[in-house]
Amino acid sequence: MILDVKQLSHSYGDKEALNNLNFSIKDNSIVSVLGPSGCGKTTLIRIIAGLEHIQSGEIFLDKLLVANKSLNLPPEQRPISYVFQDFALFPHMTVFENISFAAGSKANKKQLIEQVIHLAKVNNFLDKYSHSLSGGEQQRVALARSIAVQPKLLLLDEPFSDLDINLKREIIDDTLHLINSLESSAIVVTHNAEEAMFLSDTIIVMNKGIIVQIGTPHEIYFNPTNLYVASLFGETNIFQSKVIDHSCITPLGRIKVKNLPNNQNVDVVIRPEAIKLNLEKSPLLNPNSGIVVDSKFLGNSAIIHMTVNDEKNNKHHIHSKVMGNFLPPQASSVSVTLDEDHIFIFPR
Ligand code: ATP
Repeated sequence: MILDVKQLSHSYGDKEALNNLNFSIKDNSIVSVLGPSGCGKTTLIRIIAGLEHIQSGEIFLDKLLVANKSLNLPPEQRPISYVFQDFALFPHMTVFENISFAAGSKANKKQLIEQVIHLAKVNNFLDKYSHSLSGGEQQRVALARSIAVQPKLLLLDEPFSDLDINLKREIIDDTLHLINSLESSAIVVTHNAEEAMFLSDTIIVMNKGIIVQIGTPHEIYFNPTNLYVASLFGETNIFQSKVIDHSCITPLGRIKVKNLPNNQNVDVVIRPEAIKLNLEKSPLLNPNSGIVVDSKFLGNSAIIHMTVNDEKNNKHHIHSKVMGNFLPPQASSVSVTLDEDHIFIFPR
């Protein structure tokens, strides 16, 4: 294991920021810490880096104890490097000097610098100072500098959040290749679930200072442990219902329920992609049909806004995500079938 975090708790005054975190990170892996603003992501990274004094618990890096109540190795004595949102490049040094400084006096320094410059794609602005670089260029230099340290663990705290969407995709992609090719491990902090899935082997989902779920992107997407995790991956349709005879009724029809007792109140989460639509010729024949309010074309997908009626004839506004070439006109009637892979039922 490159990192072991044991029983880590942290407070600012009487504000609890982290509550008993326990997790490990394997060698050569990329892990995302995913959660909303204020859930404790930065506090966790700062404690691992040694920038924040640990209050209780233990941190092991590469099996070496680096922090507990009576020990706090400074950042430079830990096998890590980090990139924060503000990049923090040395303003009085050129790009080349920033990278060279980070490489220190390593035996393979020249070769290392050349490799890092090539991988991070910073060769076109090596003589520039940070104030004359664009956000994307600064980002690349910050990554290059942190890699030149040859850390065993790279800590990236929301490094992509200030970049525009196209640049962000390109730099995330390059970062992934950079980390993989140098056989480092990395922790990437993000509040964007798609970014977390794209970048990492494992996602740690946090909320209000605790770890809510740890798993692969596939496990977290298809087996979320609660409503909060299920809602992280984009918008959802949520209905309140009750288990009766191993199923529950929603405005989109009856759904089978496993492993929950009769009379249990539940939240039913239905992802837009779970709702398959077909244009209907005779709407009155199908009780699970909806009326299209609007169809929004999004390229390779489309979002269909529609209303459906529940058993008591109350109207519900629903979003369905379908292929971009299916754009039913306003006021048309559509029948609904559901894909159970994208439906989650949680006790309430
Ligand atoms: P963001 O995504 O907005 O950066 P975060 O998930 O990284 O948020 P933290 O910055 O770790 O969250 O903050 C966790 C909690 O601790 C928040 O409630 C925050 O207000 C509080 N906090 C963080 N730093 C301090 C500090 N230096 N003093 C007091 N409270 C703090």
